[in-house]
Amino acid sequence: MIMTLCISYKQYEKVNTWVGEATLRGYGPPPAPGAPADRADQPYTIDFRYHDYDQLTKFLRTTSTRFPHLTALYSIGKSVQGRDLWVLVVSSSPYEHMIGKPDVKYVANMHGNEAVGRELMLHLIHYLVTSYNTDTYVRWLLDNTRIHVLPSMNPDGYEVAREGQCDGGQGRYNARGFDLNRNFPDYFKQNNKRGQPETDAVKEWISKIQFVLSGGLHGGALVASYPFDNTPNSRLCRSSPLCSVFQSYSSAPSLTPDDDVFRHLALTYASNHPVMARGAACRSGAPAFAHGITNGAAWYPLTGGMQDFNYVWYGCMEVTLELSCCKFPPASDLPKFWEENRMALVKFLGEAHRGVSGFVTDDGGNPVARAALKVKGRDVGFQTTKYGEFWRILLPGVYKLEVYADGFLPKEVDFMVVEQHPTLLNVTLHPAKPSTDLLSAALVTPIPSAVVVDESIVFPTL
Ligand SMILES: [Zn+2]
Repeated sequence: MIMTLCISYKQYEKVNTWVGEATLRGYGPPPAPGAPADRADQPYTIDFRYHDYDQLTKFLRTTSTRFPHLTALYSIGKSVQGRDLWVLVVSSSPYEHMIGKPDVKYVANMHGNEAVGRELMLHLIHYLVTSYNTDTYVRWLLDNTRIHVLPSMNPDGYEVAREGQCDGGQGRYNARGFDLNRNFPDYFKQNNKRGQPETDAVKEWISKIQFVLSGGLHGGALVASYPFDNTPNSRLCRSSPLCSVFQSYSSAPSLTPDDDVFRHLALTYASNHPVMARGAACRSGAPAFAHGITNGAAWYPLTGGMQDFNYVWYGCMEVTLELSCCKFPPASDLPKFWEENRMALVKFLGEAHRGVSGFVTDDGGNPVARAALKVKGRDVGFQTTKYGEFWRILLPGVYKLEVYADGFLPKEVDFMVVEQHPTLLNVTLHPAKPSTDLLSAALVTPIPSAVVVDESIVFPTL
């Protein structure tokens, strides 16, 4: 019998930290009664048709069984109606975080009736696992990155959405009628919406795994939209009812201190997508987007969105990818959508390797967890992991990293980012209250932080 390599999130968390793959085998629920066993002699394929929850689950289970060295399946929680929120990791290290290497994610179908992204995720998974041995870019990506794919954040909504419905809201919301992309804590404005199980699951997931880069897949437009989605004015404006009405309809750019990076990330996707790159309006009266990208708030401001939350709370750079003018187009259009998005989906993830990464350690070389980091002039911070790792996507230039941690002296380190390689930056922190001898020694012979260009990682071309 082929064991299903599927584990609960709690187990995954443990696995992700401590347990090797060998220990893992045997975990996971038994196959559902009556479920046909996966047959290794059957071809591994993915059809161009829509997959409901059971079919999606079956495909993910089959993939994790067929490709145990490249994939791991886990659930981050359940929807209102009890459907699993499946995540498949695709990586040459599916069960364990690779120290020093970034974790990235795609989240699709948070609006249940925006169905293209959901199907494209299944095709992406199929493409990655079947190309690993033949495509040098895919191999490099999977050897150096852990890609977590959540094909449906709103499986309940999907079940009531209908193929062919290009517009409207049937299936958009979760089973309690909440819009999940208005359900996250908001930096600019208090969000009083009751937290939903799907949102809570994603919040916990993001808090456990430090994602460097993310794409949220939507439909109903064709554009790559980047933070902020909300605007600072809405907070100042709250006191006046007229003002809040005006604010909710006004659209002005709300730019992050990493605007250059976000524009680059959005452009990476759009410029690798032959139709999105043209930026044409979906229909008359709909907006056109220069080069296929827009700032979220410049399009329309919203409160409680997922991308602002990722960036502000956890330093994860998320871009919202609107992949189809029609939210739920006929399945016969899916081959076209896959061809348009394949290159963009794969190239976007490689951007996690741009910029700076490294480790923060103490004098004894021990990792400093939860150190607070900031690139000077970019006042949205990020933190080290429990291994002392950090990552920040940056364009070529000269920067200063500010590092703070409890019990240590603050530190600033200058570094440079070049186009061809990520910069590896190791920072050693010294205790805030060292003995006098150590302090004077440190003053006389400061230990320089190591700044090197990581020559082992070269961006390959597709
Ligand atoms: Zn949407």
